[in-house]
Amino acid sequence: MTTLITNIKELIQVRETNHTLVSGQDMKVLPTIKNAFLLIDHDTIVDYGKMSDSVGLKADNIIDANNKLVLPTWCDSHTHIVYAGNREQEFVDRINGLSYEDIANRGGGILNSAEKLQNTSEDDLYEQSAERLQSVINLGTGAIEIKSGYGLTVAAELKMLRIIKRLKKNFPIKVKGTLLAAHAVPKDFKNNKEAFVDLVINELIPEVSKLQLANYIDVFCEKGYFDLKDTERILECASQFGLVPKIHVNQFNAFGGVALGVKFGALSVDHLEELNNEDIEALKNSRTIPVALPSCSYFLSIPYTPARRLIDAGLPLALATDYNPGSTPSGNMNFVISTACIKMKMTPEEAINAATINGAYAMGISNMYGSITKGKKANVIITKPVPSYNYLPYAFGDNHIDSVIINGQVQ
Ligand SMILES: [Zn+2]
Repeated sequence: MTTLITNIKELIQVRETNHTLVSGQDMKVLPTIKNAFLLIDHDTIVDYGKMSDSVGLKADNIIDANNKLVLPTWCDSHTHIVYAGNREQEFVDRINGLSYEDIANRGGGILNSAEKLQNTSEDDLYEQSAERLQSVINLGTGAIEIKSGYGLTVAAELKMLRIIKRLKKNFPIKVKGTLLAAHAVPKDFKNNKEAFVDLVINELIPEVSKLQLANYIDVFCEKGYFDLKDTERILECASQFGLVPKIHVNQFNAFGGVALGVKFGALSVDHLEELNNEDIEALKNSRTIPVALPSCSYFLSIPYTPARRLIDAGLPLALATDYNPGSTPSGNMNFVISTACIKMKMTPEEAINAATINGAYAMGISNMYGSITKGKKANVIITKPVPSYNYLPYAFGDNHIDSVIINGQVQ
């Protein structure tokens, strides 16, 4: 089946050759074609160009995109959408003055989510997660990375990863699974963190690897959670099982996690609200992409990742949601892009590059996703009539999406 989208006001993020990443100054460039067409065959982009060059093209379906923009779907490279219940009470507690650490210290936070998850049936947890996944597809997300990490026992982590696998099978969008092996120290290991890291190394990672339940390994490398030594032990073990790191670093403190990630060939280092010059130096000439999560900064009222410093140093940057119940109960990439422009001083071109091609890179799929390129998957957003792509982040909080096409099918 073929689909032809005609009269597109502007076709965004058109890449002739198969770019897999844009960095530094190049992030300011967003290639487009005005008054364009796009031709899809089954699930693949097969042609595009100016409307004047579309004469004679035939298709089974024709979609008239008059006054509308067409762009690749968002690639959200960092989420935790498999979770049980919500934490709106902690939200109110924080409004009333408790800090994230205060809440964690009295048994809230990640431990609270872990307890709920352990007590929720696999089917119920799947249903809750599937609902979230459908809602982010409607908001224009066409590829997503999903982490475990709320299990904190071998059994519950495997349950989470099986759910991610089930989502991958049942939904049309690209899903990548990450074993977030060390997210928080479970209650039973409160005074013996070392033993928990041993459990991760001796049981969890080998089991996940054997069952082929994850593509990536993650650690919450942060003061009060897992230090450099713990992180190094876990990454060392994971590398023996072929799990590439995508790690949480520098959310509250910068103490060398970035360089450690680079040393282990991390695909991405995520958060970076705190950043020092050594971190930037470590990232130069590496294959590791920094990932910013501005909705998390917004929700927790913590600093935003210094995007300008990263981009002006010639580095690439990706944007993702961090969708999770504690610090970012939102999977809306449109809001992420607005917030990146408004609070991180990224230009709309930089933000769209960061949320499409660079997001795809940050989950290892930019050869097939993240741009309008012949041969890539036909995952596109058709906007409502809007004046320009600058309007998307500018008019924040409104839904500018008319329809979402995944693998050539209108959702
Ligand atoms: Zn996260």
